[in-house]
Amino acid sequence: MIQINNYINGEFQPIKDFLEDTNPATGEVIANIPKSGLTEVEKAVNAADEARISWSKLSLEERTDWLDKIADALEYRSDDIASLESLDTGKPITLAKAVDASRSVANFRFFAKFARDFSVENFEMDDAMNHVVLKPVGIAGLITPWNLPLYLLSWKIAPAIVMGNTVVAKPSELTPLTANLLSEVIHEIGLPAGVVNIVHGLGSEAGQAIVENSKVNLISFTGGTITGKMVAATAAPMFKKLSLELGGKNATVVLEDTNLEESIPEIARSGFMNQGQVCLCGSRILVSDKIWDEFVDKFVDYVKSMKVGDPSSPNSDLGALVSLSHRDKVESYIHLAQREGGEILCGGKSPKLPSPFDKGAFLEPTIISGLSHMSRTATEEIFGPVVTLHRFKSDNEAIEMANCTEYGLAGSVWTSDVKRGKELAEQIETGMVWVNTWLHRDLRVPFGGVKNSGVGREGGRWSLSFFSEAVNICVKE
Ligand code: NAP
Repeated sequence: MIQINNYINGEFQPIKDFLEDTNPATGEVIANIPKSGLTEVEKAVNAADEARISWSKLSLEERTDWLDKIADALEYRSDDIASLESLDTGKPITLAKAVDASRSVANFRFFAKFARDFSVENFEMDDAMNHVVLKPVGIAGLITPWNLPLYLLSWKIAPAIVMGNTVVAKPSELTPLTANLLSEVIHEIGLPAGVVNIVHGLGSEAGQAIVENSKVNLISFTGGTITGKMVAATAAPMFKKLSLELGGKNATVVLEDTNLEESIPEIARSGFMNQGQVCLCGSRILVSDKIWDEFVDKFVDYVKSMKVGDPSSPNSDLGALVSLSHRDKVESYIHLAQREGGEILCGGKSPKLPSPFDKGAFLEPTIISGLSHMSRTATEEIFGPVVTLHRFKSDNEAIEMANCTEYGLAGSVWTSDVKRGKELAEQIETGMVWVNTWLHRDLRVPFGGVKNSGVGREGGRWSLSFFSEAVNICVKE
């Protein structure tokens, strides 16, 4: 049993009230985590407040050196990151190594280099010079979900601290293990006390207390759209800087000229990676009428060959969902799809797995056809291994279908004609669109959604701007 403590002011803090953390692949309790509330959050905010001035006075070079030190120490523990992430979330170990562990290290390295190379513009007038100075905002409240735990936490902590802010972070209480590993790493390398404070607990208690705290100047939140609305309702009247990275219901548009042999494995990856629990997953697959039958046959065959099972096995393509209650929610959408007239082409149920995985939150990758593109199943975020297929007759119809949800996070277009793909991509109302690829990330580019998928952008210079206050100093010569 792992014992997790809050990390506040450079110390691991004992606490009386605990929550249990479960391995979703087996149902086994693996850790006790603090059930923090107002008192713990206030303590963390006070520590961040005390550290704020001295941290902000370090040079940018000194802060980027700290980021590199964190990256080195995390890289040394890459295997631990991958195994803890797989244990906590149920995701396949192969995915945890390739994506979670490597990106968590890369986030610190990237922002160290990017901040070092970054220069702000100065604006010259005939008789004066405008000097733009990026100042720290103050204390950053960072709230993250369970699907990519350390990947998303490090994506916020790295730019926040490099710009001179101090941090109070609350990871999801469902997946606290790698945030705890980060606390250990930060402690080992001796990052000044109070710069990064990590408080574990429930969103409604610890999360809400961070958002409500008047000393917290900025909130960066990644999570569901409904929670995002609550966070915004609290933070906006307090004039906090706010970034909201929320849910998605992303369209995958397959044109008639796409090379199916090459694109189907990628389209399946975009639908089912991390058991479909990635905000960017392409869960609505829109297919040209002209290749409908061929696409459906090949896609169903491919998805049927995907293996669901023991997350620690290198042969598993899909592991467990994050919890039994989340699996139940996803299954309820499969039942809804049947009531809405959908036909299940494959999956639709929990696989029969040997002990101890018979108690786990597993679900077969599921493909549903025959639904209206306006149905609830096809427009609401399911966040599980469930995709719906819809046919279109023209590019205009594909665009109309792609844009018919309240979400606007991401999308992809698959075609042999790159020019046509790009033209279509520009008409999709989302923050990000890929053509002939998916989740192909350059950390310099803007990341974020439109409509109900969020407010603001993170990534590269957008992160550095969000985690700083741009101040203009106009000097008359
Ligand atoms: P969630 O339920 O909204 O929770 C996200 C985080 O907010 C958790 O740490 C949660 O704590 C906390 N929280 C809950 N209520 C809060 C409150 N009143 N005040 C402050 N914090 C609160 O989302 P989730 O189920 O963990 O994650 C899945 C969602 O995240 C999906 O909708 C997915 O699309 C979205 N997501 C978006 C992106 C993106 O970049 N756009 C990336 C990844 C995931 P608890 O865990 O204790 O509830």
